[in-house]
Amino acid sequence: MTNKRVYTFGNGKAEGSAEMRNLLGGKGANLAEMNKIGVPVPPGFTITTEVCNEFYQVGKEKIVELLTQEVHAAVAHIEGHMGKKFGDVENPLLVSVRSGARASMPGMMDTILNLGLNDQVVEGLARKTGNDRFAWDSYRRFVQMYGDVVLEMKPANKDDIDPFEEIIEQVKKEAGVKLDNELTTDNLKELVVRFKKTVKENTGKDFPTDPYEQLWGAIMAVFNSWMNERAILYRQMEGIPAEWGTAVTVQAMVFGNMGNTSATGVCFSRDAATGENKFNGEYLVNAQGEDVVAGIRTPQQITKLGSQRWAERAGISEADRAAKYPSMEEVFPEIYRELWDIQHKLELHYKDMQDMEFTVQEGKLWLLQTRNGKRTGKAMVKIAMDLLHQDLIDEKEALLRMQPGKLDELLHPVFEKEAQKKAKVLTKGLPASPGAAAGQIVFFADDAMAWHADGKKVVMVRIETSPEDLAGMSAAQGILTARGGMTSHAAVVARGMGKCCITGAGALQIDYKARTVTIGDATFKEGDYISINGSTGEVYEGLVPAQVPEMDADFKELMDMADKHARMQVRTNADTPHDAAVARSFGAVGIGLCRTEHMFFEGEKIKAMREMILADTLDGRIKALDKIFPYQKEDFKGIFRAMNGLPVTVRLLDPPLHEFVPKDAEGQRELAQAMGISVDEVAARVEKLHEVNPMLGHRGCRLGNTYPEITAMQTRAILSACLELKKEGIVSYPEIMIPLVGTVNEFTMQESVIRSTAKELFEKADDSVEYKVGTMIEIPRAALTAGEIARHAEFFSFGTNDLTQMTFGYSRDDIASFLPIYLEKKIIPVDPFQVLDQNGVGQLVELGVRSGRASNPNLKCGICGEHGGEPSSVEFCHRTGLNYVSCSPFRVPIARLAAAQAAVR
Ligand code: PEP
Ligand code: MG
Repeated sequence: MTNKRVYTFGNGKAEGSAEMRNLLGGKGANLAEMNKIGVPVPPGFTITTEVCNEFYQVGKEKIVELLTQEVHAAVAHIEGHMGKKFGDVENPLLVSVRSGARASMPGMMDTILNLGLNDQVVEGLARKTGNDRFAWDSYRRFVQMYGDVVLEMKPANKDDIDPFEEIIEQVKKEAGVKLDNELTTDNLKELVVRFKKTVKENTGKDFPTDPYEQLWGAIMAVFNSWMNERAILYRQMEGIPAEWGTAVTVQAMVFGNMGNTSATGVCFSRDAATGENKFNGEYLVNAQGEDVVAGIRTPQQITKLGSQRWAERAGISEADRAAKYPSMEEVFPEIYRELWDIQHKLELHYKDMQDMEFTVQEGKLWLLQTRNGKRTGKAMVKIAMDLLHQDLIDEKEALLRMQPGKLDELLHPVFEKEAQKKAKVLTKGLPASPGAAAGQIVFFADDAMAWHADGKKVVMVRIETSPEDLAGMSAAQGILTARGGMTSHAAVVARGMGKCCITGAGALQIDYKARTVTIGDATFKEGDYISINGSTGEVYEGLVPAQVPEMDADFKELMDMADKHARMQVRTNADTPHDAAVARSFGAVGIGLCRTEHMFFEGEKIKAMREMILADTLDGRIKALDKIFPYQKEDFKGIFRAMNGLPVTVRLLDPPLHEFVPKDAEGQRELAQAMGISVDEVAARVEKLHEVNPMLGHRGCRLGNTYPEITAMQTRAILSACLELKKEGIVSYPEIMIPLVGTVNEFTMQESVIRSTAKELFEKADDSVEYKVGTMIEIPRAALTAGEIARHAEFFSFGTNDLTQMTFGYSRDDIASFLPIYLEKKIIPVDPFQVLDQNGVGQLVELGVRSGRASNPNLKCGICGEHGGEPSSVEFCHRTGLNYVSCSPFRVPIARLAAAQAAVR
């Protein structure tokens, strides 16, 4: 450790720099850097993070002793630059004291402003500024902040009342005003008197009047705040080591509320909403920082152009604008030019869009902060690509600048920002499939289709959805369900369609009979308007306007660049030619999962399927399967045609049989007629199929192993489709996937059915196509015995939906009942059905890949659970050596980007 404990900055010089982030914290390093590149920053000094550690070793007294000389010299340094004196009555210097760790820990630690005031200094400040109110307002804010933070009077429990707030309320009541800014100077003076009294009562001591005593108190409070409960918790969550410590930055206060040559504002070097390279921002004359955001006064635009645009939108005439709301460019042209130069310089220096805070104190411009600005998805892409084209960053950096999840905003409709802010939130569910949807409520798939056909926009509201709702879901703008998790039927299907969906909105009370849904005390009828936000899970009352974003040239260029750098490929989960085509247009290079069960549900298919299930003889089943065969073949042809030349993984039938059979009397009667048996017989057979736990019941390869004729029919349909397409010149690469394998015998038994069926078919056709047989790894036992299975399987696809379900033992359909509580209590950090649990489930994936490849070095490995489109999970897949990830069509661009980032990181 160095002996130097304090680093000063000011007037274009600094002892620190941006590289010294570890020692000076992010804020301290940045302030030093700004000085070095000639940006006017109020002078100050930073006490290092090492001192924080020392503080915890040697204690307060000793640390003050160790620091005294350097801190006094550093305060003198500020005084010199500001031409003011700390504690002086006639010309006082006030300072701020702030924390700043190596990693940003927003709001976790403490800050004290206006330090250096006491009963005499406040009078001097009032005289010096000619502004009584300003001086006393600063003083009362300081006493409160100091009391709360340094003297620890802020109640630990957020339900308890802050003693200072209580006094403010009393004084406001006595003065008959509602807002703080309506208090007179005398009221503010009264606040200070009562504040100090409560300090004495609470701490037994007088409020400290000596500025140095105040300063030491504040510095120690910042060190202490490193170990406050929320900071400790935040560090645990973010993996920040306690040894890093926090730095303390002490800096001269500057004020934007000293009259008409003072101002304060916020500005951005580019447009944070659109990404356009346009300097913009807002400012207020004679105001403090918080006034700009508080909405009490209307902030004015910084640039003239921005101001004119703003006026046009607000319906204000040019004459009115120029008179009442002039831009900073017009009011303070010189300061504006200086600010323009600074923002340009900062952007070039940090090579990113900057979000800056500034204050003008009596005609002098000061920068208080600069940081990389937050931005929309559209701006994220545009800014990074523009910076790349300007040669300010390289391709790798441009890729790493992206937050893949934010691409959603570019692919789905989004609500108009202002409208969304104003919308009334009725409840919140799980954000199952992103986007914005608004329309009239319908409760049934038939209605969704009928209303849609009439040109109406509908939102389908259900307790839960089943495969029978597919067509209705497709016709609806969005889907809202009361039950279900992130991998429930509705969620998976909606994501596949790129359709906005919220699941597990437990507050919904749906009465199908009355056709109403009650949320809290509001009841909505069929036909009432509702809006849902699939990106946040929020349900809004009424019709909230949305806009459809479009993909531009920047986006396409970004995606090509991602593919150039990525190692893993991105496939898609698609069950229809339409979804396959959409995914292909988003850049998918194959289908990683085609769920065939959805192909059994429409029209005639479901009838034949039901006959097959309820048939009690092999002959009966084969007869029914023969009816299904042509439909299946046509479905497969559509998909292989859409994916011409690319691999398509087709999964054999998976869901529990009971999902296919009719449970209502009407449906059973229809089926009895078709099968020529009695209704009672149908009812009895349906009853026999009932399972207590269908998720762990007769599904997946258990179906194929008990009814091999299903596997044979599906194999014939897949390969016949390919043979027929071959004649049209279309190239298919079928990969037949066996679901829910847990033992090697389950696999080999299915494999032999597939191989013998193929052989027979090829012989008959006197033609053949290449095909592969592989399996899903979605049962823990399959991962544990992957070495055995891989001796036979040509590929593995990790079905992390079921693997997560069975590893955690959390039902993927019922998790919504306890997940919110588990998240709130931090029992689990995130929904494991959304973000792959790398620690637990991830071990099974790693083991599966490792032992699978040990016995079959050519084994191709992919993932097709919902995690395949989630960025952190994609990164894990890259590290684990998977060949590809497969995800819903609309997540393909996100996965492509995440795969590229994993490769360049
Ligand atoms: C899985 O389990 O991860 C999977 C992709 O299959 P499904 O979601 O259809 O069960
Ligand atoms: Mg599965």
